[in-house]
Amino acid sequence: MPDSLTRSFSNPPAALLERRFDLPDEDATLAFGGRFAQAILQVRLKYSSTPNERFPGLQVQLIGDLGAGKTTLVRATLRALGHAGRVRSPTYTLVEPYSLATETGPLELYHFDLYRFADPAEWADAGFREYFDAGAICLVEWPQRAGGLLGVPDLEFTLEQEGEGRVLIARAFSETGKSCLESC
Ligand code: ADP
Ligand code: MG
Repeated sequence: MPDSLTRSFSNPPAALLERRFDLPDEDATLAFGGRFAQAILQVRLKYSSTPNERFPGLQVQLIGDLGAGKTTLVRATLRALGHAGRVRSPTYTLVEPYSLATETGPLELYHFDLYRFADPAEWADAGFREYFDAGAICLVEWPQRAGGLLGVPDLEFTLEQEGEGRVLIARAFSETGKSCLESC
């Protein structure tokens, strides 16, 4: 498959870390979401204990066909971060924002679904760029639709069907992403 269909960025740098997770059923995906949520909080906490360093935020690209389990994983992550309400798939709105009150302080999380994203001008008009620069967690479904606008993510999660279950290949492209993935 050409890279442009599986990635939002061309000439991918080598991953700093790659891990594979077998997710034989939905419960396994929910459990992974729980570990991922804890990993996010841990990596953020590291920054708060270092003077003059701010948590740069985390961009996670979620790759996989319709039904691969991208939204399920986002939902599980949000639940584990304390979100009790509904998690809508932002298919038409492109982004759904969450302000979370976690055990280690407030956290902004943006859930993108760019499946219907067509016009790169919309990117600037909607102010999406700012979401990625504000110490927030950005979880992006269908990042390929944004072309090169997203740049290289901290983490890339690829979900694929395997029998009745799924397999998740996770790659880290930054130190923040790597620390996060190490504790998943
Ligand atoms: P996507 O956002 O990738 O289109 P969804 O999360 O909306 O996919 O849907 C995934 C479907 O697969 C849901 O019906 C969910 O119950 C199921 N599912 C999620 N994770 C697993 C898994 N690890 N094994 C089997 N089924 C799963
Ligand atoms: Mg989805």
